[in-house]
Amino acid sequence: MAEVYNWQIGREMEYPYPEARPEKQWGAVFDLNKCIACQTCSLSCKTTWTNNEGQEHMFWNNVETKPYGSYPLQWDVDILDRLGVHEWGSDGVYDGDTIFEVRDFDWESMAADDDPETMHSEGIEGFRPDDEDWAQPNLGEDEPTGQEFESDTHIEEDHHPTWFFYLPRVCNHCTFAACAGGCPVQAIYKRQEDGIVLLDEDSCQAFQECVRACPYGKSIYNSVAANSQKCVGCYPKVEQGKVPQCFENCLGKIRMHGWVNQPENANTSAPVDYMVHEAEVALPLYPQLGLEPNVYYIPPINVPTDYLEQMFGPGVEQAQETYRKARRGDEEYRKLRGVLHLMGSTEWRIEEFEVTDEEAIGYDQDGHTVARVPMEEPRYERDRFDGQHDAYRLDIA
Ligand code: SF4
Ligand code: SF4
Ligand code: SF4
Repeated sequence: MAEVYNWQIGREMEYPYPEARPEKQWGAVFDLNKCIACQTCSLSCKTTWTNNEGQEHMFWNNVETKPYGSYPLQWDVDILDRLGVHEWGSDGVYDGDTIFEVRDFDWESMAADDDPETMHSEGIEGFRPDDEDWAQPNLGEDEPTGQEFESDTHIEEDHHPTWFFYLPRVCNHCTFAACAGGCPVQAIYKRQEDGIVLLDEDSCQAFQECVRACPYGKSIYNSVAANSQKCVGCYPKVEQGKVPQCFENCLGKIRMHGWVNQPENANTSAPVDYMVHEAEVALPLYPQLGLEPNVYYIPPINVPTDYLEQMFGPGVEQAQETYRKARRGDEEYRKLRGVLHLMGSTEWRIEEFEVTDEEAIGYDQDGHTVARVPMEEPRYERDRFDGQHDAYRLDIA
């Protein structure tokens, strides 16, 4: 056991191995205000990586409808229950236990235990979903929650009385990966050059401890291959300076791939670092679990803050406000608006970006321009009344 510093929870915490950060860390920002649940991402991953026998119900990328959808079933409700009370201090420090701390486990004595099946994973809070929990990835799709309203009030209401939103998920390539921490034979490792977490299927001995330990349900057992499998971060594309398959094919253009640093080393000319550390508009998913996940989400602005704070931590209200201002066109948030325009604009990883009066421009690692988008799109409006067809138009823009 080691003490490691997790900046997302603002304190040190317990983890099975010493802190060993990679040279670069694979990262991502997803804008939840734009996801349309088309599932193109899910299928682009499936047709690339998980179309073999035993992978029929395996989605390394999935999209679930919150609050009711989940894959595997109830993954989030179950792990939050096991964590107990999780509260944040006013200083942004997490006061509760992470999944590495909640069991109050004697790591030192277990380190000498020679039974691999009971080693590290005993100290990590988690659960292994049943086979049927993976079988219905879209259960709960499009089911909203919220207060009842009369059928004729939907146009008059100022706020959304009912709400739901889509949550696309891939492996977070966590800094403190529970899958790696829980594996008794160390078949899972984090690459030094890009921080991608890979599972060596030849070394895997089917203990399924990674499946039990990963609170996000992103390590999945294949009973035909008799080993566990997980998202590979599309490392062959990442090595070529490209974005992963599920990013390139995202129809809603909600995704940005790039490197993410710790706050003190942030490069605010790089898109992910800028959105996470300077604009503070993108937040980690369930930071209180303690894994320092590296996929960040711009929270949806139509969803109640208290629900989102449990999911993304205490920065939600500020992130929503910042996003609203950027969308409104506030001059102060022009840089943010520019980088939002760049999302999904190129198959190449944008290493740095700049925003001019007219354009947002993305550059690759050699400084070549790989994306260029206008800050203002031309807008045409038609008359509300269509005289030719004697009808009113609903959409005039
Ligand atoms: S999300 Fe799960 S599978 Fe992915 S690195 Fe983190 S713990 Fe491992
Ligand atoms: S990053 Fe690649 S492997 Fe991972 S979910 Fe996306 S497409 Fe699949
Ligand atoms: S492809 Fe993009 S917009 Fe479509 S479901 Fe996936 S993340 Fe959402």
